[in-house]
Amino acid sequence: MAQRQTGSRRAGGLVVLGGGGRPGGAVWLVGAGPGDPELLTLKALKVLAKADVVVHDGLVTGEILDLAPDTARRISVAKRKSRHSYSQDEINRMLVAFAREGLTVVRLKGGDPFIFGRGGEELEACRAAGVDCQVVPGVTAALAAGANAGAPLTHRGAAQAVTFVTGHAAAGAEPDLDWPSLARPNQTVVIYMGLSQASPIARRLMAAGRAGSTPALIVENASRADERRVVTTLAGLAEAAAGLTGPALLIVGEAMALASSPACPHTGRDPIDLETESLLSMGSRLRGNERGFK
Ligand code: SAH
Repeated sequence: MAQRQTGSRRAGGLVVLGGGGRPGGAVWLVGAGPGDPELLTLKALKVLAKADVVVHDGLVTGEILDLAPDTARRISVAKRKSRHSYSQDEINRMLVAFAREGLTVVRLKGGDPFIFGRGGEELEACRAAGVDCQVVPGVTAALAAGANAGAPLTHRGAAQAVTFVTGHAAAGAEPDLDWPSLARPNQTVVIYMGLSQASPIARRLMAAGRAGSTPALIVENASRADERRVVTTLAGLAEAAAGLTGPALLIVGEAMALASSPACPHTGRDPIDLETESLLSMGSRLRGNERGFK
């Protein structure tokens, strides 16, 4: 339900004047994809072109931010070691406060907003505040990583399932995952946020029975100009991860045997030369199909 607010309030360090909220404001949780602007969806591009405010995290590249209007205010909520980082609660309040000002708020997230992106929490915050919130899916990093390496995440006879897990662990701890399930053969396991935990992850998977010879792939900066791929095995995962600084995915599974070696780049960049303008006009021709966004 909409909550009526009076006076002024702080939204993540920004003072927003109160009132009942102006009509027309909305929050769009938009997936920016893994980095290559050509992997944005047409819908993401159209929503971005209408943004009054773009609230983005560190994974969103400058090339994509440039697609928002010059007049749009850009706010980085990237995690920073040396300066104040916005808490999730501050971000939630900021989104709600801007929407209540009648603004079109684009919350731009790397990959897909609902894959390890905390998009669900932002959606819930908007719902709780009675603010209109819509979600535009994005290409999650795993899809770009597999595509560029020529390594399918599912593959007849080699990978009957694919599982996305987080390698993130509480400070000083190891990731808390269902190791026996992930150790079963003929499936692909994609580990997000697992670079610094590559050693315990590999150790746990092997202890649970996954063969050390299982093919593995690490992809850093998937779909970006500086993409790096390391083809290895589960037993070699920790060594292969050393020296990479991320963002990176660890991908373990029999189907990774198809991954192309780094000497044979297959980055998938710039296959077509479509200018943003022509994409935008393509977007407006599709407008008959669109739901909600004007
Ligand atoms: N919502 C994002 C994931 C956010 S979690 C998505 O759908 O892709 C952040 C983690 O995603 C990073 O630590 C890294 O493991 C992975 N990641 C994001 N972008 C990546 C990229 N371009 N290349 C490789 N890994 C990436």
